[in-house]
Amino acid sequence: MSQQGYVATPPYSQSQPGIGLSPPHYGHYGDPSHAASPPGMMKPAGPLGAVAPAGMMPPGPPPPGTHQFGQNGAHASVHLPQRFPGPPPVNSVAQSYTPYPPSTQSSYPSPVSTSSTTQLGNQLSAMQINSYGSAMAPHGLGPPGPPPTAPFQGPQRPQQPSILQPGSQVLPPPPTALNGPGTSPLSPPTHRQDGPPGAAPPSAQYQPPSLPGQTLGTGYPPQQASYGPQMVGTQLTYPGGFPGGPAQMAGPPPPQKKLDPDAIPSPIQVIENDRAARGEQAYTTNTRGQVPPLVTTDCVIQDQGNASPRYIRCTTYCFPCTSDMAKQTQIPLAAVIKPFATIPSNEVPLYLVNHGESGPVRCNRCKAYMCPFMQFIEGGRRYQCGFCNCVNDVPPFYFQHLDHIGRRLDHYEKPELSLGSYEYVATLDYCRKNKPPNPPAFIFMIDVSYSNIKNGLVKLICEELKTLLEKLPKEEQEETSAIRVGFITYNKVLHFFNVKSNLAQPQMMVVTDVGEVFVPLLDGFLVNYQESQSVIHNLLDQIPEMFADSNENETVFAPVIQAGVEALKAADCPGKLFIFHSSLPTAEAPGKLKNRDDKKLINTDKEKLLFQPQTNVYDSLAKECVAHGCSVSLFLFPSQYVDMASLGLVPQLTGGTIYKYNNFQMHLDSQQFLNDLRYDIEKKIGFDAIMRVRTSTGFRATDFFGGIFMSNTTDVEMAAIDCDKAVTVEFKHDDKLSEDSGALIQCAVLYTTISGQRRLRIHNLGLNCSSQLSDLYKSCETDALINFFAKSAFKAVLHQPLKVIREILVNQTAHMLACYRKNCASPSAASQLILPDAMKVLPVYMNCLLKNCVLLSRPEIPTDERAYQRQLVMTMGVADSQLFFYPQLLPIHMMDIKSATFPAAVRCSESRLSEEGIFLLANGLNMFLWLGVSSPTELIQGIFNVPSFAHINTDMTLLPEVGSPYSEKLRMIMNIMQQKRPYSMKLTVVKQREQPEMVFRQFLVEDKGLYGGSSYVDFLCCVHKEICQLLN
Ligand SMILES: [Zn+2]
Repeated sequence: MSQQGYVATPPYSQSQPGIGLSPPHYGHYGDPSHAASPPGMMKPAGPLGAVAPAGMMPPGPPPPGTHQFGQNGAHASVHLPQRFPGPPPVNSVAQSYTPYPPSTQSSYPSPVSTSSTTQLGNQLSAMQINSYGSAMAPHGLGPPGPPPTAPFQGPQRPQQPSILQPGSQVLPPPPTALNGPGTSPLSPPTHRQDGPPGAAPPSAQYQPPSLPGQTLGTGYPPQQASYGPQMVGTQLTYPGGFPGGPAQMAGPPPPQKKLDPDAIPSPIQVIENDRAARGEQAYTTNTRGQVPPLVTTDCVIQDQGNASPRYIRCTTYCFPCTSDMAKQTQIPLAAVIKPFATIPSNEVPLYLVNHGESGPVRCNRCKAYMCPFMQFIEGGRRYQCGFCNCVNDVPPFYFQHLDHIGRRLDHYEKPELSLGSYEYVATLDYCRKNKPPNPPAFIFMIDVSYSNIKNGLVKLICEELKTLLEKLPKEEQEETSAIRVGFITYNKVLHFFNVKSNLAQPQMMVVTDVGEVFVPLLDGFLVNYQESQSVIHNLLDQIPEMFADSNENETVFAPVIQAGVEALKAADCPGKLFIFHSSLPTAEAPGKLKNRDDKKLINTDKEKLLFQPQTNVYDSLAKECVAHGCSVSLFLFPSQYVDMASLGLVPQLTGGTIYKYNNFQMHLDSQQFLNDLRYDIEKKIGFDAIMRVRTSTGFRATDFFGGIFMSNTTDVEMAAIDCDKAVTVEFKHDDKLSEDSGALIQCAVLYTTISGQRRLRIHNLGLNCSSQLSDLYKSCETDALINFFAKSAFKAVLHQPLKVIREILVNQTAHMLACYRKNCASPSAASQLILPDAMKVLPVYMNCLLKNCVLLSRPEIPTDERAYQRQLVMTMGVADSQLFFYPQLLPIHMMDIKSATFPAAVRCSESRLSEEGIFLLANGLNMFLWLGVSSPTELIQGIFNVPSFAHINTDMTLLPEVGSPYSEKLRMIMNIMQQKRPYSMKLTVVKQREQPEMVFRQFLVEDKGLYGGSSYVDFLCCVHKEICQLLN
């Protein structure tokens, strides 16, 4: 299989050798040495226990800063970003320049430092409510070590890491806890008799004694002594716990201790705390290394010298100074870059800088673009590059005097000197063949085989296009769109249409030679919609009839894409193909596919084949598409296996989007499809793009994940990139980093706009550097970490056994946390689990990733679905991956119809449901409305307009417009949840104790998975065990 294009193993494998720690596989899957290591070596039972032969902890240099040990205060003082005042001159000047015209920013240089201190204060107080540790004083069961309360009481450490004591009975936190435990004023959780087998509800009452799925068993006797290698309870370990789980544990009846789910870190609480502390206020980007609000927190972002977190989020905002430190912690250093992110209307759009024929000012050596990191010297005649330190002459046209603090007098007049993000008009040097590009084209390609005609899909598409073509994207100042359109239909042959404006009727040209597709017409194929409107409408009316009598079942696929690329090539423009396809392309043609869905490969070393395309035709096609700026969006309507791994490859690698509607039913699914189609046509997009990520000296970008194609190691080529696509970039050290100069990143995207302008979009971000591990841990962002882990793991499934990948994820999680425990936390009993504040929810999110169907080797899950989810995640930004892995669950019966707010979210666990409740769950792809059997009649009536629960017909994907306040409010909530999401979420109404509930339950990600995968509690215990082994 020629995967070369995207498997891109080099960075993976190359980065290994230098690493001192052997097995913890810093970074990764490609490492042959690891691949070779038999999983068996891992453990007595279950990978978790594994890997950690003693001595596995970094043999390298002793952790820096031994002083951290024993200093309780160490946790306390240092969460403040201001601690690194860094250089930013921007910050230090509190002047009231009026910056640039659109001036919602008039309050430009606000004294952020004070406000963020306050924020922190809030955060801290909120945190203490949540201090998992303090509520968990061991009850005599605790380790004999330090007195139980010791770790919590010492000198007050405001920012307490989470401390969890496995094996101890944990009391529920105080009732004040936001959302936490049982805060839901629901009636007591329901025990369901009919739950699916093997997944005992972790029913979360706090008081009752041991409950089935909750017991921790002998694996966690409170004594340190028992944390030996021969640990019992290995059954708990990750994937060992897959089908069965703790309930199956053999061995002597344990001294029943349970871990209260309410006492372990709650993602909901972390989200709420951040909202409370940082929501609804301005976040200014003037401080280097500042950790932004969580992606789930709404706030107004003001660019004051660093790119908005909407564009770039990092796994940590403080890089370790040395690669040894990086290896020691195993925290990935990565940025998730979404260069075309949508900016809300209350934030300032990007400024466009035009230097005319001179073009952008760039460093002579490293070619970085002018930005706030350039330091002007010698009276303004020269500047020193912040990336490579080269001293450059300022071009005469760009000269400006400096003020008394050495800053250019025009500092605030030039976006490129004072902002983190802006655009440049690109000169001809930046264009293909040195001539301005043509505006892009959209080509609509409709599968008109028998089933699509018969089920009405073709008619639906044609009807809808008549309206949608009115909404082709255009520049704000333009009246009409510059995008040209073309139409192709196909089954096992291709039909091109001439829709030239002067024709009375469209003309069809059939290409039967699908082996070597050519474009039979140039003039009249790609046209301006406004000019050809009547011919196009005529065509769209005729298409469904034209093929009404066709019995053709077979389709081609690769030739369709080929035809699109050829047409764009012939027109010398970039563009996008919209392909509406339904079946496995079995007709004789390049890219012909056979049904090779083989469940026997699951759980073998060959499972990776299921994720790889079955022919290399699609690989080379993707390459050709990218080379010509041809992006492909695929709308799939499969009723059976279609080989998603093959069909989705080109869309994934060309920055397109894949939409999949299983068993499409017109009356249920058309709205979802039409919403997707409209959004895909209208969304902001750049074409024919090349991205380059430059860094200051000492580190560099080594690996890239996303809808991208790389023909060398630095240029990230993208046929197109839209507002929802993110590229995740991993960095590695190649030298020491300095605390003074920090770690600077510049991402430049050269692209063609929808009107055919060539532009550069620049995003700059400055990170801190530190030689203190604790600084690194304080500046982590778990949501970005999970995005990185998901993408690197999902890339690795193409060439690594899944078991190995899961083990690496678990090991790396444990390793990151063990390193914190060893080097940053105050001394405490070995049996305590101590989590860094910024990573409190890493275990729960990591467990969600491990339970995702891509990594779960289970035959029950359709192969296409796994391949599809893999492809989707590869291009996700942080907000989307956060929701995807940890869905939002809202108690709808708690909503206040008088206020505009949402009911407070609850944790994704069955224990949070109640039979008197109605819950809405969303993960970005799906939405469920779950109805408890005893849901209040008033609500049922208000939402469905039926007299009772029994009368509800769940066969709907849209809620009726009842006109009641409940109906209004619920539909408003659903609309808001849908906004900003790239996919239209399909609504499924689920009644408690009815069959479809099984599907819903898969999204209760804190529980044990339906098809395997540990519960959060079990996983946390496993990670803890792993940490203990690493520490021993
Ligand atoms: Zn430079």
